[in-house]
Amino acid sequence: MADRRIDAVAVIGLGRFGIAVARELTRMGRDFIAIDEKPQIVRELADEFANIVEADATNPAVLRRLGVHELSAAVVAIGTDLEASVLTVLALAELEVPVIWAKAINERHRRILQRTGAHHVVMPEADRGRRVAHLVSSRMMDFIELDDGYAFAKTSPPECVVGRPLAETRVRDRFGITVVGVKPPGEQFTYATGETVVRHGDMLIVSGPTEKVERFTQLD
Ligand code: ATP
Repeated sequence: MADRRIDAVAVIGLGRFGIAVARELTRMGRDFIAIDEKPQIVRELADEFANIVEADATNPAVLRRLGVHELSAAVVAIGTDLEASVLTVLALAELEVPVIWAKAINERHRRILQRTGAHHVVMPEADRGRRVAHLVSSRMMDFIELDDGYAFAKTSPPECVVGRPLAETRVRDRFGITVVGVKPPGEQFTYATGETVVRHGDMLIVSGPTEKVERFTQLD
């Protein structure tokens, strides 16, 4: 049978994180329903989000009445109220929502949410803090770590890759990273190939195991 789910998201909990998710979904033109239990919050945001309702999301029957069981994804953006966060994830899992994202405020909370049925857990403050630590300790301008210890970084080039085709620099063998893209000043990023010659002032996108990316971005 074809999947009859509605391609829309439930955003549950409209604190700073939930509002940021809802605003970005709006900008992307995605359909979503925003849910918060506080009448005042719902009133304040009613002009901005067309589909917003006041409801207690810990109750699966309430979520079902709102049609959340038919949606393709949900984001649980409740942080400090641990019980509400966990019960909401549990309710969404019971309703078999296929993609459940949830926000955790610490490692223990993350583990509980994963066991309760969240498919993806983010810790915005801890994740942001880790990124800043990387940015402040190397030539990196940006850093994204995927779940499995694999990272992408935007970085200026170390001396050893400048002025020769990338194939000749043997960065993969020597440092275990791949130069994915190169951006000369004032131009767009283009995919890097073995023939690409990196110049001073270029920006690189490199990828590889996190610790190798870190080492590469700390070279002189
Ligand atoms: P921020 O993203 O601002 O850091 P936070 O981590 O402090 O938020 P909370 O304040 O715990 O998160 O929750 C965010 C929102 O979730 C609040 O507006 C709160 O009213 C809402 N919320 C809490 N419990 C429920 C619930 N059971 N059902 C629906 N919304 C809820």
